[in-house]
Amino acid sequence: MEIFKPLDLTNEDRDRDVKDTEKVRCLIIGSGPAGYTAAIYAARANLKPVLYTGLEMGGQLTTTTDVDNYPGYPQGIKGPEMMEDFRKQAERFGTDIRIGIATDADFSGTKHTVTIDGNKRIEADAVIIATGATAKYLGLEAEKKYMGMGVSACATCDGFFYKQKDVAVVGGGDTAAEEATYLAGLCNKVYLIVRRNVLRASKAMQAKIMNTPNIEILWEHQAVDLYGENGVEGVILVRKKGTPEEEKINLKIDGFFLAIGHTPNSEIFKKYLETDTAGYIKTIPGTSKTNVPGVFAAGDVQDPQYRQAVTAAGSGCMAAIDAERYLSDLQK
Ligand code: FAD
Ligand code: NAP
Repeated sequence: MEIFKPLDLTNEDRDRDVKDTEKVRCLIIGSGPAGYTAAIYAARANLKPVLYTGLEMGGQLTTTTDVDNYPGYPQGIKGPEMMEDFRKQAERFGTDIRIGIATDADFSGTKHTVTIDGNKRIEADAVIIATGATAKYLGLEAEKKYMGMGVSACATCDGFFYKQKDVAVVGGGDTAAEEATYLAGLCNKVYLIVRRNVLRASKAMQAKIMNTPNIEILWEHQAVDLYGENGVEGVILVRKKGTPEEEKINLKIDGFFLAIGHTPNSEIFKKYLETDTAGYIKTIPGTSKTNVPGVFAAGDVQDPQYRQAVTAAGSGCMAAIDAERYLSDLQK
C-alpha cells in the first residue's frame, strides 16, 4: 500500500505560489481529523480559515482500511472515505483548502508567519497546528507490504480484528506494554518482542504484563522479516543477534504491532513552542493554547496519550473555539 499520496498540483495551485506575503486571519496546518475539524468550526465562526494539507492529504487514516470506532458510522467506514467526508464538510463552510507543506515558522511577533513550500509566506493572526505524529516502524520492506494486512501501529484501532488470534507487539516501553495488555484482553496469545534483556516501561506497567498469563516476553529478539500469502502469517525473529548464540526463529502470528514510539511533526515550530522531551507540543491543560498567544495546537502533535481520531477531532474543535475567542479579544 502506498503510504503517501502523490501530489497532484494544478495550475491554480502553482499560481498561488507567489513570493509576496499573504495575510490571513486563521491558518490551519494539517488535514487530518484535527485540522479539518478546526476548519469546520473556524469557517462557521467566519474566521475564513486557510488550510494547508501537507504531504498526506487526509492524514494518517488514509493509510488504513476500516475505522470502526469513530462515532456516527454504525457500520464502520474506510479511513480514506471518512477523511473525504471531513474534507467536504470543511469545504462546505468555505474553508480555503490548499495543497502545500509548512516548511518554516516565525512566531516571534504578534503576527505569526509561516512559510509554505519554502517560497510562500503567510501572515496569520491565529495559527492552528494540527500536523499529527508519525508512528515509527522498523524499516522492513515487509512492513510496507503487509501494511493494513496484518501490520499495524495502533492496537486500539486494529486489535479488534485479531480477536482470539495470536499477535506480536514490538517494543519494550510503556506504549508496548499498554498495547500488549490491551491486545491480551482480545487475543489468544500476545508475544512481546523486546530487543534488550530489560524493559524500558515503568515498573507498574512491567508488573501488569508479567501478571498477564497470555503475554509472553521474547527477550533479546529482533524481528527481521514477515511472511504470508494474503496477509501476515508469521514473523522471522533473530535471538541474541550478533552474538555466538545467535539463532533464527520462525514464529506463527496473525498480527504484527509496532510500538517503538512516535515522532510528533513539530520540528519547524520547536524554536518558538515548548515541547516535551519527545517533541509533543505542550498546551495549557484543558485548552489548545501553546506558550505563544495566537498559536494553538490540536490532535496527535500535542497528544502523547490518546492519539485517536475522535480525540484529535475534539481537540481541533477546541483549537478553533480558542482561536475565535483570541481573535475577538484582539479586536476589543
Ligand atoms: P494526522 O491524521 O496525522 O494528520 C496530520 C496532517 O498534518 C496530515 O494531513 C499531514 O499531511 C499534515 N502535515 C504534517 N506536517 C505538515 C507540514 N509541515 N505542513 C503541512 N501539513 C503537514 N484512530 C482511531 O480513532 N481509529 C482508528 O481505527 C485508527 N486507525 C489507525 C490506523 C493507522 C494505520 C494509523 C497510523 C492510525 C490510526 N488511528 C486511528 C489514529 C488516528 O489516525 C490519529 O489519531 C489521527 O489521525 C490524528 O489526527 P491528526 O489530525 O492529529 O493528525
Ligand atoms: P519509548 O519509551 O521511547 O520506548 C520505545 C521502545 O521501543 C523501547 O523499549 C525501545 O527499545 C524500543 N525500540 C525502539 N526502536 C526499536 C527498534 N528499532 N527495534 C526494536 N525495539 C525498538 O516510547 P513509548 O513506549 O512510545 O513511550 C513514549 C513516552 O510516552 C514515554 O515517556 C512513556 O513513558 C510515555 N507513555 C506513558 C504511558 C503511560 O504512562 N500509561 C503510556 C504510553 C507512553 P530500547 O528500550 O532498547 O531502547
